[in-house]
Amino acid sequence: MFDALTRQPDDPLLALIGLFRADERAGKVDLGVGVYRDETGATPIFRAVKEAERRLVETQPTKAYIGPEGDALFLERLWTLTTGEAGRGRATAALQTPGGSGALRLAADLMARMGTKGVWLGLPSWPNHASIFKAAGLDVITYPFFDIPSQSVQFDRMMEALSGAAAGDAVLLHASCHNPTGANLSADQWRAVSDLIAARGLLPLVDIAYQGYGRGLDEDAAGLRTLLAAVPEALVAVSCSKSFGLYRERTGAIYAACSNPETALSVRTNLAALARTSYSMPPDHGAAIVSMILGDEALKADWMEEIETMRLRITSIRERLAAGLSRRWQVLTAVREQEGMFSLLPLEEADVLKLRAEHAIYMPTSGRINIAGLKSAEVDAVIEKFLSL
Ligand code: PMP
Repeated sequence: MFDALTRQPDDPLLALIGLFRADERAGKVDLGVGVYRDETGATPIFRAVKEAERRLVETQPTKAYIGPEGDALFLERLWTLTTGEAGRGRATAALQTPGGSGALRLAADLMARMGTKGVWLGLPSWPNHASIFKAAGLDVITYPFFDIPSQSVQFDRMMEALSGAAAGDAVLLHASCHNPTGANLSADQWRAVSDLIAARGLLPLVDIAYQGYGRGLDEDAAGLRTLLAAVPEALVAVSCSKSFGLYRERTGAIYAACSNPETALSVRTNLAALARTSYSMPPDHGAAIVSMILGDEALKADWMEEIETMRLRITSIRERLAAGLSRRWQVLTAVREQEGMFSLLPLEEADVLKLRAEHAIYMPTSGRINIAGLKSAEVDAVIEKFLSL
């Protein structure tokens, strides 16, 4: 019976990991995988996470189920971190989820249940966005977001496309540190798109997966906060994978900002029912860590200091890369203004393969680079390799 199945293609990024591992050349550089790396090339566990884990080992009383909604205190503290609102004052439905992906899938399942027809997705985007929406049975409608050759946000074209969206359609927006382009909307652009969403009766779904990696913890959520103030209803998918370095602990949350408490209750029960028939209950460990850090002044201060160090490392490498690459490609001065770990370079597939074969520099054929994959000491040499293309 299994013969009814056809083999699925390998995930290109996972395949790239295998190729990188098998490469025995000294000084090989991995700009592919989307995880933070420090100056030694490691993806470290935050100090505050280690300490919270130590305390959990000592104090956690049970491993009994936490229920499909997860931990209410975690949900409240994460909402405050994301929105700046004290507690969940507004009528908000919330569920702890297995990572940001789990949050996006629940959002998609909820929209399918609501009868949402189209989800508008700016291109390029994280490839899993379209896959998740389609898996939930939604129609994906694309709009232009970023032009790779000119490295610029296509804001007018985006607004024009969204002006054609039907009332009730959903719009996916990246809060900041856009994956894969690093390009973000300005404060004015956030205001304009928020007004358009409100005026046309669209449902925004904001994906926030890199808070703290761009301009700062509050700055990276500023656009989302503008939007939340402007629209009656919104979905927000939060990932703690990067901001707390909890990738494998699968930690995240889905929030629905609603116009009144009865609707919020209805949304919450629907989200819980969807979770129940999928993975039933969320994993606890990562959320317990995040909750402990956000609820403890000293741990929170230490976490904030560490994420700021990471942010500054990314920013400094970004600046050097922009300065170096723009010597040949003027347009790449834009890399300096882009935010977060990623930029999408205007490279041909042949260039990417040449960098891989001749210089052991690894990135996907899309040309997306993870800036955090570079150690300071490697930057100049890597720039020279790019310039030699
Ligand atoms: N959204 C974006 C834009 C991402 O890049 C990622 C992770 N790569 C996620 C969501 C989900 O992350 P996770 O499921 O690991 O929390």
